[in-house]
Amino acid sequence: LEPEEFRRQGHLMIDFLADYYGKVENYPVRSQVSPGYLGEILPESAPYNPESLETILQDVQTKIIPGITHWQSPNFFAYFPCNVSTAGILGEMLSTGFNVVGFCWMASPAATELENIVTDWFGKMLQLPKSFLFSGGGGGVLQGTTCEAILCTLVAARDKNLRQHGMDNIGKLVVYCSDQTHASMQKAAKIAGMNPKNFRAIETSKSSNFQLCPKRLESAILYDVQNGLIPLYLCATVGTTSSTAVDPLASLTEVAKKYELWVHVDAAFAGSACICPEFRQYLDGVENADSFSLNAHKWFLTTLECCCLWVKNPSALIKSLSTNPEYLRNNASETNKVVDYKDWQIMLSRRFPALKLWFVLRSYGVGQLREFIRGHVGMAKYFEGLVAMDKRFEVVVPRLFSMVCFRIKPSAIIGKNDENEVNEINRKLLESVNEFGRIYVSHTVLGGVYVIRFAIGATLTDINHVSEAWKVVQDHAGALIVDAFL
Ligand code: PLP
Repeated sequence: LEPEEFRRQGHLMIDFLADYYGKVENYPVRSQVSPGYLGEILPESAPYNPESLETILQDVQTKIIPGITHWQSPNFFAYFPCNVSTAGILGEMLSTGFNVVGFCWMASPAATELENIVTDWFGKMLQLPKSFLFSGGGGGVLQGTTCEAILCTLVAARDKNLRQHGMDNIGKLVVYCSDQTHASMQKAAKIAGMNPKNFRAIETSKSSNFQLCPKRLESAILYDVQNGLIPLYLCATVGTTSSTAVDPLASLTEVAKKYELWVHVDAAFAGSACICPEFRQYLDGVENADSFSLNAHKWFLTTLECCCLWVKNPSALIKSLSTNPEYLRNNASETNKVVDYKDWQIMLSRRFPALKLWFVLRSYGVGQLREFIRGHVGMAKYFEGLVAMDKRFEVVVPRLFSMVCFRIKPSAIIGKNDENEVNEINRKLLESVNEFGRIYVSHTVLGGVYVIRFAIGATLTDINHVSEAWKVVQDHAGALIVDAFL
């Protein structure tokens, strides 16, 4: 690593990325390659002799980029966004450049202390209760993904419970969530050794907009208690993956409190919106939860990975996750006055993720971050209006944030009133639109209904992209509806 050569190559790389962002809109959004395409064009073994950055970048342009689905394209409307910013990318670059391994305070004090500070800052922006902040006895940690955050909190809850009730009870512990909860909950339950029979994905329905019903939760808990089981953990969601439904935190946490459940609130996508006063109501009740997480790498301009997890009781996490081998012992840790993040997460080694979040928070400020969120929500409202104006379509569930769930409605397809046939036509619409390549959308099934999810959130998207995207959908739907008549 020679500094002047690093400078030269670094400039080349920034130029490459700046050019990429300049033309990202021109690429087909969803990669059009077939499985195995790369093996056919790359050599079978690593080169023996060094190759120049210029040569490697040429291959990136011609061989890698065709296999990329362009999540940063302004025409990317699939899944959930993972938007970026200059601040986020450069913060990431700095963290990679330093490449410190901040597993404990001593291993890189700034990495730990900045993380303490930015999670407190962010927590205050979300008006989380003080008990979730370091300044109030709780605290935040930046983990990789929500999957890890849920697993860590589940393990903390499990061990806390087993310490009280005895280790033999592991087979009796029950996890509650809804049928809309992200699959990461089920994976976490498996990894944490929960009895698969004690996983309750409580049914939701269209009539309650796919929210988890507190009464149903309580009935499920009572049934389990009567059968000698031990209610352990509830995962409530603010902004479900399929439809951005918001579970009623206030009443759910009331039920959970009665039966002493650990409540985790998963706000992976929609949590970011709660920095705006008009969305903060969706977090009402979080004060009665034990842990709360959101992904800054989804809708908060921060590059992957950056899941922010706050807990009220860090010692529960630490009791489950800490290890103290001799080779990591140090005076600072012995004083118990510092945070050693290795004890708050699965991994030992960790990057310096606080830097990129700090860059984002400072470069934008709270005001501009709110405007960024509102911009996407405004475009989603506009899109919802476009759908409503076309009598062939319907919005399937109320839009709360920046995602619209819609479909061609049955009455538009004369003679095809069977729900399966309607689903099939909507599935064909999605495939036809995505194969066209101009935009990328994804789908879900809600109460048996196949739905197209139009999730707005790329940094470069503006209202014209949304209008054009709608035209693409209309054109492709027109052709399909005509076909359906034949
Ligand atoms: N929870 C919700 C509500 C999500 O929407 C997602 C991803 O879309 C996840 C969890 C999983 O997030 P991660 O990929 O960070 O584990």
